[in-house]
Amino acid sequence: MIRNPTPQRISLLTSAALSTVVCGILFFLHAPVLDFLSCLFLFFSLSYLTFLYALDVFIYRKIKIIYKNIHDFKVTKINRKNFQVDLDMDPIKRVNDEVMDWARNQSQEISFLKQQEVFRRDFLGNVSHELKTPVFSLQGYIETLLDGALYDETVNEVFLKKAAKSADRINSLVNDLLEISQLESGSVNLQMIKWDVCELTHEIFESLETQAVSNSVELTIKEGCDKPFMVMADREKIRQVLTNLTQNAINYGKNKGKVSIGFYDMDANILIEIADEGEGIAKEHLPRLFERFYRVDRSRSRDSGGTGLGLAIVKHIIEAHQQTINVRSTLRQGTTFGFTLAKAK
Ligand code: ADP
Repeated sequence: MIRNPTPQRISLLTSAALSTVVCGILFFLHAPVLDFLSCLFLFFSLSYLTFLYALDVFIYRKIKIIYKNIHDFKVTKINRKNFQVDLDMDPIKRVNDEVMDWARNQSQEISFLKQQEVFRRDFLGNVSHELKTPVFSLQGYIETLLDGALYDETVNEVFLKKAAKSADRINSLVNDLLEISQLESGSVNLQMIKWDVCELTHEIFESLETQAVSNSVELTIKEGCDKPFMVMADREKIRQVLTNLTQNAINYGKNKGKVSIGFYDMDANILIEIADEGEGIAKEHLPRLFERFYRVDRSRSRDSGGTGLGLAIVKHIIEAHQQTINVRSTLRQGTTFGFTLAKAK
């Protein structure tokens, strides 16, 4: 009764308590039994009705309004059509539950927004930091050339080439940033067609041949995999994924080592794995590897012209295909990236 107080219960308890006091007074005054009983009955009924009325008008009706407002507010966010409030059901308990619920949701929403804010700030900081270096060196070379180096045959071409390299770096960064913002906004339309992933791999190997040779890396297709594997996906987007993963495998792989690609039939999907024999990635870095601008080896990444956005773009593309990507690595043995694509029917 005390745990679940309705207006009736509270009025009943209070009137009973007051009637006991009145009963004591009448008993003390030696009132006749009939007067005593009728007086008690009258007092109890009157006080019960008064309390009930007061509680209902001054407290419960107001609580019901608050409760209804909270509910209405929540329902506009969910589905107003299916919403009905039973105002006669234990309003205090309901208000309590609703307020607790609301507070919990609000605090979750606030911590989510705070996290987003941190991401945004970090992202802006990273973008500025990444752009700063090539912009400064571009400015430096141009100013030196304008200050007279332009007419010095021994350095002018070198400086111009270096300035062009910085401009290329800015260009790759801006392109990757544009690409990532398009992928994140969901405005990319995938051209889902049927094609052979093994054939595309041969094309990519051809285009990366020079890079592989200059890093003394051999590009191979795993034994038994050099045959058609038909998938349903956006060919150009997957070209970008395979190129990025193969380029990474060449850059971070072992000098005079191998980069091998394998295809595996996994029922509804084809699993594609790119393995290198490089230094590998320590366990603690693996969970953050697909974050924007996350780098394990900063200087090696920059030397190879990496923007630090490649894997983030790769992950977005695979997720846009509703597929998954993962990485496993053993230090001093190598790294393997694997992703799935839907098998063509
Ligand atoms: P980047 O442009 O720096 O290559 P990515 O997003 O492609 O950017 O890769 C992020 C980081 O992950 C790289 O800087 C590198 O430290 C690490 N990484 C990626 N692929 C490999 C690999 N095959 N072996 C070792 N480290 C790798």
